Amino acid sequence: MIRKTSKESIEPYLRDASNYSGGKAEEVLIPENVDELVSVLKSDLRPVTIAGAGTGLTASRIPSEGIIISLERFNELGKATNGKIWLGPAVTLVSLQEYLNKTNYFYPPNPTEINASIGGTLATNASGSRSYKFGATRNFVNAVDCILADGRRVLVKRGHKITEPLVLEDGSEIEFPEIKYISPNCKNTAGYYIQPGMDWLDLFIGSDGTLGIFVYICLKLLPRPDDFISGILFFEKENFCWELIPKIKSTNYLSPCSLEYFDRFSLELLREKYPNIPVQAEAALFFEEDIADQKNYDFILETWIEYLTDKNILLDESWFAQDQKDIQAFHKFRHQIPMLVNEMNSRLGREKMGTDMAVPDKYFEEMMSFYEDTLFGKGLPYVIFGHLGDNHLHINLLPDSSQQKLAQSLYDELVKKIISWKGTVSAEHGIGKKKKKYFYEMVGEKSIENLKKIKNT
Ligand SMILES: Cc1cc2nc3c(=O)[nH]c(=O)nc-3n(C[C@H](O)[C@H](O)[C@H](O)COP(=O)(O)OP(=O)(O)OC[C@H]3O[C@@H](n4cnc5c(N)ncnc54)[C@H](O)[C@@H]3O)c2cc1C
Repeated sequence: MIRKTSKESIEPYLRDASNYSGGKAEEVLIPENVDELVSVLKSDLRPVTIAGAGTGLTASRIPSEGIIISLERFNELGKATNGKIWLGPAVTLVSLQEYLNKTNYFYPPNPTEINASIGGTLATNASGSRSYKFGATRNFVNAVDCILADGRRVLVKRGHKITEPLVLEDGSEIEFPEIKYISPNCKNTAGYYIQPGMDWLDLFIGSDGTLGIFVYICLKLLPRPDDFISGILFFEKENFCWELIPKIKSTNYLSPCSLEYFDRFSLELLREKYPNIPVQAEAALFFEEDIADQKNYDFILETWIEYLTDKNILLDESWFAQDQKDIQAFHKFRHQIPMLVNEMNSRLGREKMGTDMAVPDKYFEEMMSFYEDTLFGKGLPYVIFGHLGDNHLHINLLPDSSQQKLAQSLYDELVKKIISWKGTVSAEHGIGKKKKKYFYEMVGEKSIENLKKIKNT
């Protein structure tokens, strides 16, 4: 077991991509194996926070007291067989993807940030660009080998319902408490996932590192698609792009997996790196469709092009991938926008002020107009980008030091409206420290008391 006790060696673990400051920890423990981890948890009663790769955006891995346990030594990558793979939680998305690229298997969750650890993506139920078709990480977890805070171990498998007790390795049992709370009916990772008759596994996924430590994970894999049709469409007006989304979603012959948005200010920021973005473009949409069988590629591509011709798109200026290199370049283009914002925040010592809210389908159009009406022309810089297909956008506010109050009041206004539409304050990043206040607003005191019963159990 490695113990880091000096201020300098603890400091890197008090950071994540939110730029949050003010974390505190007595020491960082890095167990080499499960036995070491269990023995610490059984003997050390200080509060524990689990560290993944630190790409999270909510400061959920940053403690305010106690110890940090980092799983960085748990990086064993198993072999993909029979549509599944066992791996350690510290394996990064990029190493999983690089390995799977040499096989016939495909792992759909694609939360943009490829340096995230698989353990972190389970704890936040991460989703990302391909969740429009494939859903979030939750859909691709078969089992987790989990250590509870008191050191007890349990293998939590898909199909094991909360109506039956959870049986731990030492034979002890945990009953699911009686609670009156149901998670919202849209893309969501705010708070514990609760649905009647659900699997225990679903409680642990998305629990933000508060219920147990994943030490081994079994992921579900799909057959690798032969190819992807992929493009970046540009629009002269933002609303031309918004109007296209419900139309695409209602066709029964297009089946995109990604529908990712960039507003005019995102394009302005991206022009620093991509001067070839058409000058007249005020919005863009990154779309992808997975092609199971190469022989259908030409037909599906023609269907897309034909469909897009009369839809107010700058089609001649839009970009279509010709090969794998282009597909990767488009993913990089998508990833650049949060990267540029995060870099700017770090440079300015500014904490990230980004939304992660989603609403049910019926509010999509109202949501877009509301964002525009609330933010445009207020003198506060911002960018809007993200998962348009899921009614789930990231608004990143970029206040200077004199605009903090304005930014906070606009943020509060946005949250209020989304909650009134029965949306969520976090669709993929989790709550952590940054969104606690909004989670309280979203579910209310009574539900918080209900959810606490789970943690207490
Ligand atoms: C540029 C950028 C783009 C991003 N885009 C997306 C996106 O499109 N979609 C998306 O969903 N997210 C996105 N993220 C957020 C981030 O990548 C995810 O939240 C990711 O899941 C965090 O993983 P991590 O390993 O870095 O976890 P950390 O930040 O280290 O920790 C996150 C949480 O996981 C818990 N945890 C970590 N390991 C374990 C474990 N083994 N057992 C139990 N709990 C554990 C921690 O305690 C903490 O609560 C983006 C981040 C960046 C910087």
